[in-house]
Amino acid sequence: MSNYKPDILIVGSGFYGTVLAERLANVLNKKVLIIERRKHIGGNCYSETDKKTNIEYHKYGTHIFHTSNQKVWDYINRFTEFNNYRHQVLSNIKNKVYQMPINLETINTFFNKNFSPVEAEKFINNKTKKFKNYKFKNFEDKAISQIGKELYNAFIKGYTQKQWGKKPKKLPESIFNRLPIRFSYNEDYYQQTQYQGIPKNGYTSIFKNLIKNKNIKIKFNQSYKLNYKIKPKFLTIYTGPLDSLLNYKFGKLEWRSLKFKYEKKKLKDFQGTAVMNYPELKKKYTRIHEPKHLHPEREVFKSNASLIIKEFSVLNDKEPYYPINDENNRIKHRKYKLEANKIKNFDFGGRLADYAYYDMDMTISAALKKFETIRKKIK
Ligand code: UDP
Repeated sequence: MSNYKPDILIVGSGFYGTVLAERLANVLNKKVLIIERRKHIGGNCYSETDKKTNIEYHKYGTHIFHTSNQKVWDYINRFTEFNNYRHQVLSNIKNKVYQMPINLETINTFFNKNFSPVEAEKFINNKTKKFKNYKFKNFEDKAISQIGKELYNAFIKGYTQKQWGKKPKKLPESIFNRLPIRFSYNEDYYQQTQYQGIPKNGYTSIFKNLIKNKNIKIKFNQSYKLNYKIKPKFLTIYTGPLDSLLNYKFGKLEWRSLKFKYEKKKLKDFQGTAVMNYPELKKKYTRIHEPKHLHPEREVFKSNASLIIKEFSVLNDKEPYYPINDENNRIKHRKYKLEANKIKNFDFGGRLADYAYYDMDMTISAALKKFETIRKKIK
């Protein structure tokens, strides 16, 4: 295949790469070659079935598809159906279970009160008013100014420290914006989001459908270097991290990574929900996933076996998950970006290349936009 000349070479088979491949092949009739470092498709969204329990799980952590972007929703529904799953998260502290994000139920249970929404808001405002004019914009100050010290210490501090491996004062406030406090009993994790679900046939099926066109070829176990043996006619689209591409010339970008420990249980249901968070520092894992709950519509949901997956957060493992978006790393990334922009017939994007905490729908949206710019250039 090394004398095969594609029109476009795409590095990486996550959403960014495969959506672009699909558009380029189906709309512009281009020949696309995707190369993938791993032995499977789908990046960190990849799902597979555990042979023993027959339960499908997301190999790189539970992924809930959620979006309010109509374009993205219409687009992705051409490649999969979704079930009616609605994500809910619980948090376990001293063996007591609370709702997350913090809502009226969490507040009332935690403070042993029976507040109405207005009363709860007043109660929390009383705790936070002295922190409203916080000086430094960081995760901890932001969190305390929103929810007060007690709730912060119980639900957020330990979890955040375990997940990011840094003191929350060293983290950007933007991370906290992902889970605002609620003064209602609504426990839908993605309350603001219009559409939500898990692909009925698993994530991997979406990726297979995206690259069905015979003009799209994929090669696994292939790392990319700038002198890669296959040169495309028009363009290379790179979706990996920019630091390794450019030989770490400005230093390594830092990532949090995840490790998983699998346990099989001979019982129908272990924890009654898909994800249970464990904020206490004395528990080394951050959460326990029980993937059968993602597909209550499946026959296997009723079986007398369950797979549970404990999640541990680690720094800079081989597999990057979450960018550590602090000032240092952002400066480094900016330098890499400027450098990568100089490479001829080369483009890049997606979570790894952009060093960004993208949800799946944001990645798909970015790929669809990129397609529009590319199409003008290579038509
Ligand atoms: N977080 C927390 N306690 C929790 C859940 C989340 O402190 O029980 C914080 C933590 O800092 C985390 C951030 O909120 O990184 C965003 O949470 P989200 O659930 O969006 O993270 P993801 O599901 O993307 O890992």
